[in-house]
Amino acid sequence: MPTEDTPLRDYPWIVVRLRCHFCRRGGDYRLADIVAKHGPRITMGRIVVGFVGGCHWAPWNPTRKPQKYGMKCGGFCPDLRASRPPDLPPSMTGLTVVDGGRGDQLPAEPGEQPRRRRVGGTNDA
Ligand SMILES: [Zn+2]
Repeated sequence: MPTEDTPLRDYPWIVVRLRCHFCRRGGDYRLADIVAKHGPRITMGRIVVGFVGGCHWAPWNPTRKPQKYGMKCGGFCPDLRASRPPDLPPSMTGLTVVDGGRGDQLPAEPGEQPRRRRVGGTNDA
């Protein structure tokens, strides 16, 4: 699976997703476009750092005063250290086994509900 040390030429997916929690930048980039711009040897970590560097909330932005507890860009690539390709629909990734079994399933029909008696006053009239 890809990590920050993975060079672009070894990146397994054709789409590079970059996201930021704060500035809402980011998007899906074609690996070929990034390779054409930065070359095949640059690592994914450098791509993420470059993405963070373009952010107003980047921790090393010189126009901002250093704030120990201020917001920092949360730029990241959600596909690093993940084995699931970003460009496959969920239906193509196969079935996964989940915990539980038939005994845990809810019944299709509602069970017998205990009848409640109306207390006080009757509406039989
Ligand atoms: Zn950001």
